[in-house]
Amino acid sequence: MRPAQALIDLEALRHNYRLARRLGGGKALAVIKADAYGHGAVACARALEAEADGFGVACIEEALELRRAGITKPVLLLEGFFDAAELPLIVEHGLWTAVASQWQVDALAAFRTEAVLTVWLKLDSGMHRLGLSVEEFRAAHARLSALPQVGPMVLMSHFARADELDSARTQEQVDTFARAIDGLAGETSLCNSPALLGWPQVRSDWVRPGLMLYGADPLYPQPSPHAAQLRPVMTLQSRVIAVREIGVGEPLGYGARFVAEKPTRVGVVAMGYADGYPQFAPNGTPVLIDGVPGRLIGRVSMDMLTVDLNDHPQAGLGSVVQLWGNAPTLSELAPRCNTSAYRLPCSLKRAEKVYL
Ligand SMILES: *Cc1c(COP(=O)(O)O)cnc(C)c1O
Repeated sequence: MRPAQALIDLEALRHNYRLARRLGGGKALAVIKADAYGHGAVACARALEAEADGFGVACIEEALELRRAGITKPVLLLEGFFDAAELPLIVEHGLWTAVASQWQVDALAAFRTEAVLTVWLKLDSGMHRLGLSVEEFRAAHARLSALPQVGPMVLMSHFARADELDSARTQEQVDTFARAIDGLAGETSLCNSPALLGWPQVRSDWVRPGLMLYGADPLYPQPSPHAAQLRPVMTLQSRVIAVREIGVGEPLGYGARFVAEKPTRVGVVAMGYADGYPQFAPNGTPVLIDGVPGRLIGRVSMDMLTVDLNDHPQAGLGSVVQLWGNAPTLSELAPRCNTSAYRLPCSLKRAEKVYL
């Protein structure tokens, strides 16, 4: 069997959830959209269900996958519904919905049901992606509060630059939020992972951790005392399936991106960009070879990549090569490959997921 595997440590996931909840000081919605950032939404929801206050997903398809798997905890549609036709399903499955655009307010007002919906009303406090302006927000709050089909609302907003600890923007967004909710009834929800880890002065009733649940540090390389407590959840690994010796001046792999300057022992590893490993990882990208730091050489191909075994005399056929996990971490690897710690696990494909 092909040895490419993503080992997923569900105890580490629970540890990170508890840390997020403790830092937030209130309730925590575990964000498991995009198949839990590639970690498997159903498995992650099951692992967290006993203690999570709720789950956040991107769309009703993701929510229904959780319900079909027997998850009964609250599930919030972070972008709300895409079409008023989803509203009966939202009621049927007891989902929570964000309301982030004026047309969604209108659709909700026109929707007839015996049920009482939980609505997270979203303010655009400065990101300018989704959310209502301050005036629209206050008007929508008044209008929705008067509707029998709308229950207590959670007042939410989302930060654009919380990962930049020296940016004034996050505090400006907090101030805009405070102005918008002044005098309005409802719990509040502000913090994503970077805000939880980097902005302890920002507080709300609900936090919405995503990336940090999976053990990646969104503030890297800025120092962050809490991020040091995160435990990586996914370890991507495979094995050496062939060993080659190449002479001085000989090229390796597609495009001869690596040319040997000395006799080089090369390990061929069953892992490629079709598994989600970044195609443009440069020569020298760190890997672990049987637990010892080593480096990638040559261009990553669809199903294979190559590593330098010169400093690993003990390594050979069958050696375990770790591509990310406790080392290199997603946060260390991402900037070297011109990508982000968010995107790396989201790209996971084909490699077998093994839950620990
Ligand atoms: C994805 C998402 C989050 C989680 O963000 P992280 O940076 O991964 O913690 C929180 N809130 C909303 C609205 C989101 O869409």
